[in-house]
Amino acid sequence: MNITYVTGGDVERVLDALLHAQNRFQRLDARRRVVISQLPLNVTLLLVAVVVLFTDRPAMERPGFVAGQAVALLILGLCLLVPWNRLPGWSILLVPVMDFIPLALVRSGIEGVLSGLGLLAVFPVMWLAGSGYRPRLAVAVSTLGSLLMVWTPLLAVGSTAPHNLVAEIVVPFMLLAVAIAMSVLTVSGMTQQRRVEELLAQSKTRERLLDTILDTVDVGVLVVDSSGKDVFMNAKQRQLFLAGLPDEASGADDSEVLLYRDGSDELLPLEQRPVARALAGDPISHELYRLGRGTDARMVSVSAREFLDAAGDRGGMVLACSDVTEVVVAVRARDSFLSAMSHEFRTPLTSLLGYAELLQDDTSLGPSARADLQVMSRNARHLRKMVDDILAASVEGSSVETQRTRLDLARLLRQAAASAMPEAEGRGIELRVVADDDLPVLGDRTGLVRILDNLVSNALKYSDTGTSVLMTAERDGRSAVCRIEDQGLGIAPEDLGRIFTRFQRTDAARRAGIPGTGLGLALAQEVAEQHGGRLEVASEVGVGSVFTLRIPLTE
Ligand code: ADP
Repeated sequence: MNITYVTGGDVERVLDALLHAQNRFQRLDARRRVVISQLPLNVTLLLVAVVVLFTDRPAMERPGFVAGQAVALLILGLCLLVPWNRLPGWSILLVPVMDFIPLALVRSGIEGVLSGLGLLAVFPVMWLAGSGYRPRLAVAVSTLGSLLMVWTPLLAVGSTAPHNLVAEIVVPFMLLAVAIAMSVLTVSGMTQQRRVEELLAQSKTRERLLDTILDTVDVGVLVVDSSGKDVFMNAKQRQLFLAGLPDEASGADDSEVLLYRDGSDELLPLEQRPVARALAGDPISHELYRLGRGTDARMVSVSAREFLDAAGDRGGMVLACSDVTEVVVAVRARDSFLSAMSHEFRTPLTSLLGYAELLQDDTSLGPSARADLQVMSRNARHLRKMVDDILAASVEGSSVETQRTRLDLARLLRQAAASAMPEAEGRGIELRVVADDDLPVLGDRTGLVRILDNLVSNALKYSDTGTSVLMTAERDGRSAVCRIEDQGLGIAPEDLGRIFTRFQRTDAARRAGIPGTGLGLALAQEVAEQHGGRLEVASEVGVGSVFTLRIPLTE
């Protein structure tokens, strides 16, 4: 597999390239930088000497020209000899300032032989203004230097007439313009460079942070581009990938990974694997797969999300794979234990209950023995309900799709009330039913009966003697609505949200010592949702509770 990292690295390389040329010059030692900056002026002055040699040889001997060339060489010598790196950074800028002297001398020395020599001052001006050091001061020094370069020779020969000075203003004026332009360019270049450096630093930090996060989390992360090619894989994903290969000698090819659907031994064809399906647009969220063979096989939960590139187009997919082997093993062990245990409990319980009910019909028994038998039956029924709840909770994925039939929910409610009636009478609770309408629904009889039985048995269980329970069933728009209203314990507001979660019981129920598993409502809610309906509760502590079941009516 060809894996390339696509984090901030590419951005960094581009930013690095942008900074590279500038940095190369900055990294040279101070002496070299000074000499390289000074050389163009010396070379040009040498060129001027060659031109003068061929055009007006005697002019070569003029004192100004000779002195100018000598000073220029002297400055170059200084550039070579001065230990610049021991001096403050700005000291280098003394060199371009000094450069105005040889320029003034050469210019005045060969006046009339070569024109336009004043423009040579562009070298020190660009150096000063381009240094970025105190831009305004640099522009001012450049302009002053240019003016002095032009005017000093005039002042020296006493030609200070205003018209002479004004006539010689053009060169300094041009150089001023060059200095300003150079300074502006340099300042904006420096600002841009700082910005680029900031971006580079941010990008590096982000990349390191992302790398650390990706290698710290215990979730495998795989990124594929829009053509399905792997572009990134974190350490955990690499580990999972290796666990899925048939043996160590296998090539690192996705197609060789042993991937199965949970519960199947048939190798998953490539087009049905999460990557291919995610790219085809299938939503993938917490899907369970088996990776690898035998005892080393891992259970992985896979989710996928699309990511968009900078242009907003589809960039590819990010897949998150969690190794849930331990959780799956633990859940399965719990379910099979609960299921086995519940089965073992149910048979003797049913027998106990049957005999207790038979005994109640025995006329030879006195009233006190009969009352004892009622208590025995009631408790045995409680126990059986709890066992039934546990059994139902441990049966995974019990599908209601295949068992749906047309049912009358009002009738089911009346039946639930009838079977709860002996219990209600025994407890001294008045149980009333108002369910006259026909409420046709399409559903699973066992599931719906279990919901209603659970709601009515809860209403009785959590109520005191002397209270009443009202059960109603009616139409509400396109829904059949059953309400079971009691005047019992009630449920505290903070508990209302969690009583539909498995194994959750209220403190009040526990304190009152009322037996229960905390499973009934969670299962009831699951069944209601499987029917496209829902179960709701409204309750007030000490006043009572109303549970409302809504199931869509058949058309
Ligand atoms: P349990 O077997 O504990 O009754 P359920 O899932 O049926 O389990 O109910 C969950 C919890 O909700 C109960 O333990 C109880 O605290 C609370 N509860 C359910 N129905 C009522 C009710 N009618 N009145 C008061 N509390 C109730």
